[in-house]
Amino acid sequence: VEGTEILKGISLTIKKGEIHAVMGPNGSGKSTLAKVLSGHPAYEVTSGEVLFQGKNLLDLTTEERSLVGIFMGFQYPVEIPGVNNAEFLRMAYNARLLNEGKDEVDPLDFDDILQEKMDMLGMEDKYKERSCNDGFSGGEKKKNEILQMAILKPVLSVLDETDSGLDIDAIKTVASGINSLLDGKHSILMITHYDRMLELVKPDFVHILRDGRIVKTGDYTLALQLEKDGFKGVEDETH
Ligand code: ADP
Ligand code: MG
Repeated sequence: VEGTEILKGISLTIKKGEIHAVMGPNGSGKSTLAKVLSGHPAYEVTSGEVLFQGKNLLDLTTEERSLVGIFMGFQYPVEIPGVNNAEFLRMAYNARLLNEGKDEVDPLDFDDILQEKMDMLGMEDKYKERSCNDGFSGGEKKKNEILQMAILKPVLSVLDETDSGLDIDAIKTVASGINSLLDGKHSILMITHYDRMLELVKPDFVHILRDGRIVKTGDYTLALQLEKDGFKGVEDETH
């Protein structure tokens, strides 16, 4: 990005139904990885490929990536004044249906789908009629990201620090929202700093990203070790 190489060779395989956690110090490239996977236009991929169900994602636009089942929950969700939250969700939902050759759902039927997910996340009705993320608190924005995910049921969800800025009750709600999607078919790439989130959404693999490279991969116990010894302590062991 802007002439600087951020990611310096990432090799990662995520199978159907797996949960991968990416942890790493600030500035290591975690959000860059999420943005590259979702096709952020500011980032140029200089080599390599990203294979998703046999397609190279890098050949697809951001919209096409969404239609094939990629979802990204932003670290800093964008406020979109003037865009009604419920309509935004319905249009995204219907775009997916049309792409699959199915019929769109009408607003009334969609409201049932939306209501169920909002109840699950403990979101009040007023968040339907408000503009998308406009004036939402940090925690409300993060819940709204998970609401989008729950509605779209993506094949691969890339969640960038969805737990940061949430109080303990909200973390539990968000974690149960994520867990409700897990049925062995949906995969998650979860960027997080907190072992608390990983206690609730147990990852199959934990990767440590440093300076644009994955420097260590382990299972859930690696996150516990990180909590105890910090990034430096864990990495020194490898050198
Ligand atoms: P993390 O999410 O791990 O904290 P980021 O992926 O946000 O890290 O950033 C990694 C590095 O890339 C940082 O040094 C950051 O300043 C730099 N970077 C990211 N985006 C840009 C950009 N648009 N322009 C310049 N530098 C960027
Ligand atoms: Mg980040």
